[in-house]
Amino acid sequence: MARLAEMLRGKRGRIKAYLLDQRFLAGIGNVYVQDTLWYARLHPDRKANTLDEADIARLHGAIQRVLNEGIRAGGGPGEKDVYGREGRYYPDHIQIGYKKGQPCPNCGALIEELRVGQTTSFICPQCQQMA
Ligand SMILES: [Zn+2]
Repeated sequence: MARLAEMLRGKRGRIKAYLLDQRFLAGIGNVYVQDTLWYARLHPDRKANTLDEADIARLHGAIQRVLNEGIRAGGGPGEKDVYGREGRYYPDHIQIGYKKGQPCPNCGALIEELRVGQTTSFICPQCQQMA
């Protein structure tokens, strides 16, 4: 967690862009990043340098949770595990990613889709506020 805080210090860009940057953090693609930010209760447009210690702690936990679930599920759609089986992350674990219009599993608000830079984000408007 100290390392994550160190990596984000002074970064003015959006948190989502850093999470997707494979030079910054390997292993989080656009499928996983949706749930990572949702578990962390962070809006994808939050500037990295506005995260406080509690935000970073939640983000750190969320990254580990999503990566562990992804590994256990054999990866995401289009990925294969070491036995060549199609990844099962998408149907089994995904919380809010690509579920526009469906209720948030945490609060029941309807999931929204928004564009951030080149990518599409799925967020819960209640759980992930800019604050
Ligand atoms: Zn919610």
